[in-house]
Amino acid sequence: DQQYYDQVMARIEHERVRFINLEFTDVVGMAKCVTIPVEQFNDCLTHGKWFDGSSIEGFARVAESDMYLFPDLSTFAILPDKVRLSYTAEGHRSDDIGNADVVARVICDVRTPDGEHFDGDPRATLMQALNLAREMGFQYKVAPELEFFLLSLENETPKPLPHDRRGYFDLSTDLAATVRRQMVYALHKMDINIEASHHEVADGQHELDFEIADALRIADGLMTAKYVLKAVAAQHNLYATFLPKPFFGVNGSGLHIHQQLINSSTGRNAFLNPQADYALSEEGRWFIAGQLAHAPAMCALLAPLVNSYKRLVGGYEAPVVINWGRINRQALIRVPRLGSDSESTMRVELRCTDPSCNPYLALAVMLRAGLDGIQRKLTLPAAMDENLFLHDEGDRLRPRAPMLPATLGEALEALREDPLIRETLGDAIYEGFLDAKGIEWTEYREQVHPWEIQRYLSVF
Ligand code: GLU
Ligand code: MG
Ligand code: MG
Repeated sequence: DQQYYDQVMARIEHERVRFINLEFTDVVGMAKCVTIPVEQFNDCLTHGKWFDGSSIEGFARVAESDMYLFPDLSTFAILPDKVRLSYTAEGHRSDDIGNADVVARVICDVRTPDGEHFDGDPRATLMQALNLAREMGFQYKVAPELEFFLLSLENETPKPLPHDRRGYFDLSTDLAATVRRQMVYALHKMDINIEASHHEVADGQHELDFEIADALRIADGLMTAKYVLKAVAAQHNLYATFLPKPFFGVNGSGLHIHQQLINSSTGRNAFLNPQADYALSEEGRWFIAGQLAHAPAMCALLAPLVNSYKRLVGGYEAPVVINWGRINRQALIRVPRLGSDSESTMRVELRCTDPSCNPYLALAVMLRAGLDGIQRKLTLPAAMDENLFLHDEGDRLRPRAPMLPATLGEALEALREDPLIRETLGDAIYEGFLDAKGIEWTEYREQVHPWEIQRYLSVF
């Protein structure tokens, strides 16, 4: 990595970088960061930066709390002004801290005192799944569609008020359009390429479509995008939220993920066979079958909040059934119609994922489930396309395919019953994740919600 090293050092010098943020991600997908003065950077590269991992969610028991951060120099980027000026995890404005200093960031791997990859580091989990793909002769490439709401802020408290009143693909010249362009530009300066951005269906809802790239790069990019978008929004006194379902009765925010396996020896799209049904190769059919087979357990990672399951209901373009198809908008997996460049447009789109997920874990289990389908040559059930689905039972859709988990509790239950997903996560992450999410689910389950009072109190 001498080449990266020389490049990074030259940029640090040339741009007069003063501080470096060492970033990593905890098990439940929260971005973490340790800031060092630039003078410490060389030492950090050789020896790692020590930190105490015991209070990081899902990271370690007290006995093994010594951890070291080792920068991945290929992720080095300078924080653009709009991001640096309001770089707080919550995306609140904080213009008055360290205004003049140039700050860079680098994403780190977490290692133990022996220099091993720490098995509670979600980034390492994804790298392990990618290694398996490599051994099987594949590269995993993905392109996410990141949806979010822009809300108005009042006294630093996000109010559930959409910032604008527009709809799907609407052209507008209001503030939201400017904010979106600034978001795309800030990401571009950090080497994260957005292919397109547009207004989504709901008032105040927007979407950024990432250019397809290697899965690790995309996971890093999604973690970055979440704070970049919040920071840019905060510059305008707006709040960007990735909560999957902020408003009852309105479309939620998904994170659809378009996937490709590239054959390492030929460089060609392994899902493509122009002669076959849906132009889907055998590998493509097996891959989808694998993801359908593991869908219930994967869901705990792909849609990890209590709130995620308020999005996965009928009527809002989100999936509810474990099926696949071409045009069915409730389908879990979609194989879009091919464009003129079939090599690049053949993609398998998974649609239950939402932006609250830990992208490293989400992509790791998705890949592993698909590869399992290939290894076991799983049979793909028939496609469910809209006509087939709608005509069945009149108004009340009663699909014949199995349903996705209806609550976080059901998803956690499915996770407990899927040894392959457990093995993919590794024991440390599996246990850390189930602990944290079990508490979250119980806490919610024990609440008495306003709906119950409204509906029942005057009757019973
Ligand atoms: N917002 C929808 C969802 O919850 C997706 C809309 C779309 O198809 O882009 O997944
Ligand atoms: Mg969309
Ligand atoms: Mg989509």
